[in-house]
Amino acid sequence: MGKFDMDQLRKQMDDVNLKLLELINERATVVQKIGEIKSKQSMNRFDPVRERDMIDKIISNNHGPFENSTIEHIFKEIFKASLELQEDDHRKALLVSRKKQPQNTVISIKDAVIGNGNLEYVMGPCSVESYEQVAQVAEAVKSRGIKLLRGGAFKPRTSPYDFQGLGLEGLEILKRVSDEYDLAVISEIVNPAHIEMAVDYVDVIQIGARNMQNFELLKAAGEVDKPILLKRGLSATISEFINAAEYIISRGNGNIILCERGIRTYEKATRNTLDISAVPILKQETHLPVMVDVTHSTGRRDLLLPTAKAALAIGADGIMAEVHPDPAVALSDSAQQMDIPMFHSFMDEITQLQNRILPAAKLS
Ligand code: PEP
Ligand code: MN
Repeated sequence: MGKFDMDQLRKQMDDVNLKLLELINERATVVQKIGEIKSKQSMNRFDPVRERDMIDKIISNNHGPFENSTIEHIFKEIFKASLELQEDDHRKALLVSRKKQPQNTVISIKDAVIGNGNLEYVMGPCSVESYEQVAQVAEAVKSRGIKLLRGGAFKPRTSPYDFQGLGLEGLEILKRVSDEYDLAVISEIVNPAHIEMAVDYVDVIQIGARNMQNFELLKAAGEVDKPILLKRGLSATISEFINAAEYIISRGNGNIILCERGIRTYEKATRNTLDISAVPILKQETHLPVMVDVTHSTGRRDLLLPTAKAALAIGADGIMAEVHPDPAVALSDSAQQMDIPMFHSFMDEITQLQNRILPAAKLS
């Protein structure tokens, strides 16, 4: 074969490549049009019956030299690329992802600002039991310059015979304390029908671990103009946690704080296993603020301070812990709440470390 023939064949190959390119993109344009129709009609994009039908038609027209299996393989790749073309943006990049929004989501809750590199504390009793009980904790919390007070009014308890919370009365107590002490309050809501009502009582709506995949609750939380504190499910992977947050943001509410609160493992020394590395992973993968709940993750008073130090050092935006005037008689989580003197020494120690690590964000 002379040099001339070779050049001719190469030229022919280049022409075929360009024709193939044109045809593949022509096919892609048709795929996009079909995608738009499917999207309007909420149809499933992947249609295996239709794919089989196309492959059969192609194979029955294949006269070689390629084997049928080779042709099938090549077309399968084309189908796969087409499917990706039809997938909407949300599938490629979640709304909560850093890909979608590179800068941090910063949430202002009364005087608190979470997500701007500062460290906020969320302190308060496990359950709201009485006005006096919450007010005593609020006074201590306020005296340390903390701006966020927690307290459960609707308690999702493992046993139906355990204290279920004061319900609406609990929210009323929180509201009163919030006004009197000028604190922002956080409380858990367990029923989608209560979300709208809760907006009038609390500054942040908490969705607890047991409800992280209560999708109707997540959707309802996405429809209100109130920050949401979303806790990681007891056995939820990071990806499931992120998708739960996506449920909320996809309905319009992007003010979401993620809270790592320990996951269930085989370890029995702690109530749950604090997954501390989830904090930087969540901060890398999403633009949302990330908090650590040291109470429910450890279930042990002696581990509250060391885990809080770890949370601070690893870059958490907030730390949650439970404080009760008399934990021994608390109606829930009595083994792990701090009493008020212990809360003060906890704050002394953690703020000392905080002032070394985050000198720009000193507590008052
Ligand atoms: C709580 O914070 O009151 C609580 C019940 O926590 P979790 O949902 O993480 O168990
Ligand atoms: Mn608790």
